[in-house]
Amino acid sequence: MSKEIFLCSISNVSSGGCSEDCSYCTQSARYDTGVPRYKYKDIQEVIKEAKELKKYGMVGFCLVTSGRGLDEKKCEYIASLAMGLKKEILDIHLIACCGRADLDKLKYLKKSGIDSYNHNLETAQSFFSQICTTHTWEERFETCENALRADLGLCSGGIFGLGEGWNHRIELLKALRELSPHSMPINFFIPNPNLPIKQEKMSVQEALECITLSREYLPHARLMIAGGREVVFGENQKCMFDSGIDAIVLGNYLTTTGESPKRDLDMLKSYGLGVIEAKRGVSMLEGYGLKIAKECRE
Ligand code: SF4
Repeated sequence: MSKEIFLCSISNVSSGGCSEDCSYCTQSARYDTGVPRYKYKDIQEVIKEAKELKKYGMVGFCLVTSGRGLDEKKCEYIASLAMGLKKEILDIHLIACCGRADLDKLKYLKKSGIDSYNHNLETAQSFFSQICTTHTWEERFETCENALRADLGLCSGGIFGLGEGWNHRIELLKALRELSPHSMPINFFIPNPNLPIKQEKMSVQEALECITLSREYLPHARLMIAGGREVVFGENQKCMFDSGIDAIVLGNYLTTTGESPKRDLDMLKSYGLGVIEAKRGVSMLEGYGLKIAKECRE
């Protein structure tokens, strides 16, 4: 049986203007990167986006907001999006990605229809101060723990290619293993002259080693290739699936345009890969995927 790929999509529902200084992120207001700035995308527009992506087989739909964390207003907005989406669309796994969050707000999101929370550790604890000075790695870890305590599924991963060494990568993966997320988003840094980080694009070989290492440390997590897929791998993406990737972002990324969904589906087919059907994907996450992650933590 051919390997089946999980399809996830992102909606940047509140973009840019972030007060934080994460030096890899184009949404920080401190860097002149020209990304669109808006607060709170209209709910009907988000539902329309989700319906469109569902036609291509999307299972997970992630609502992303820029900014340090989840305040009352943002929490209400995400809850209303979740209720609207769940009312209109069947067989969809909703993920919220809104930065630092306390337990009560995460419990509220869970009650409103959010299934998982995405919060990346980004890099190793011992390297974090070199890429961000306005918040701490420990805060990030705490939010991930809060998501688990709120009984949400956890998606947590990181970004490779920020100047960190292999020791930092191993340190990050050990921390992730402690959290045991059901999904680990893997990002590769995309060089941008307006960002403070001056690292070159990672080589295909090094990126594959990052994927293999992630698979070794997180054998049960779904490894999702996110930012940097096209930049690093170009037209030849089969090798990343051979190395352990089993989920992709369908459609656009936060601030960069992705492949067209049709082109991605054609690519998967040409590699002999299948796609997890939505109903099964949702029940896998509600049952097996989350259960395995919980068992790993116990
Ligand atoms: S907190 Fe999030 S949105 Fe803000 S700069 Fe950091 S990564 Fe970007």
